[in-house]
Amino acid sequence: MKKIWVTGLLLFISLKSFCWGFYAHQRINYFAVFLLPPEMMVLYKPNIQFLSDHSVDPDKRRYAVADEAPRHYIDIDRYGTYPYNELPRKWEDAIQKFSEDTIQANGIVPWWIPVMQQRLTNAFKDKNQAKILKLSAEIGHYIADAHVPLHASSNHDGQNTNQRGIHGFWESRVPELLAEREFDFMIGKAAYISDIPKYTWSRVLESGAAADTVLRDEAELTKLFPSDRKYAFEERSGKLVRQYSTEFTTAYSKVINNMVERRMRQAIASVASYWYTAWVNAGQPNLKNLNNTAFTEEDLKEFEKLNVDWRNTSIKGRTHE
Ligand SMILES: [Zn+2]
Repeated sequence: MKKIWVTGLLLFISLKSFCWGFYAHQRINYFAVFLLPPEMMVLYKPNIQFLSDHSVDPDKRRYAVADEAPRHYIDIDRYGTYPYNELPRKWEDAIQKFSEDTIQANGIVPWWIPVMQQRLTNAFKDKNQAKILKLSAEIGHYIADAHVPLHASSNHDGQNTNQRGIHGFWESRVPELLAEREFDFMIGKAAYISDIPKYTWSRVLESGAAADTVLRDEAELTKLFPSDRKYAFEERSGKLVRQYSTEFTTAYSKVINNMVERRMRQAIASVASYWYTAWVNAGQPNLKNLNNTAFTEEDLKEFEKLNVDWRNTSIKGRTHE
């Protein structure tokens, strides 16, 4: 009986955690704030909790909107081999060559980030505080996802290689276990990005190139661990669940040479740099003096609806877990 209960719980947790896991997304937006110049800090620091909490809104939206899911990944290996020159980087050329249906089905994260960046730039130009905060929180999510190797691989949960669970393992279990005690998120300063699409593609290509290592090293390490040592019943959020053991998780992080930490650090630096670039491109508006300082009734309803849909329904469209 207990076993059934625990299995049910494990299933629930794995269904509700994805895309860097909520924990890592929240930490990435949070630490990105500290890389900003003082002129931006005046807005971002007092709202750091909002930016962190709402970093996961795009994941929640997948429960309400079918178009949402492909914005979080790209199965880049469906377009040949690294550096995937078969795939045009320009949206118009890509859909011309492969059809929009195919491009959508394989995921669109490298094209979606520049769309969000333009929206954020416009929000700065409009001096619209509510929009700046909402879009900053959300673009941080997509940028972070683009840094995850398994978000740039068609074998995104090891489903083709008998490694199911590796997606959540890499982006949730490893950071949740190790980030607080081992990861260093003091990174420096946001940098201006002169070419947003080019920068975005570079990060996605890095992710695509690392996906093989993520999978291969887990498979190799698994050979050294009998399954009762690879998995263990351990506490998670105050509940006992069967999950990748602490021993296996720690060993994996070493084998991949702290890749999770390195990608998280890169994600934090990137998020701050996109925010900073949007502000600069909007003419560096004074953030002490903005309009729309309160969220509208509509915004508040949307936040509530995201939570309701997320708790009560399943993901629309294809998932990438
Ligand atoms: Zn996501």
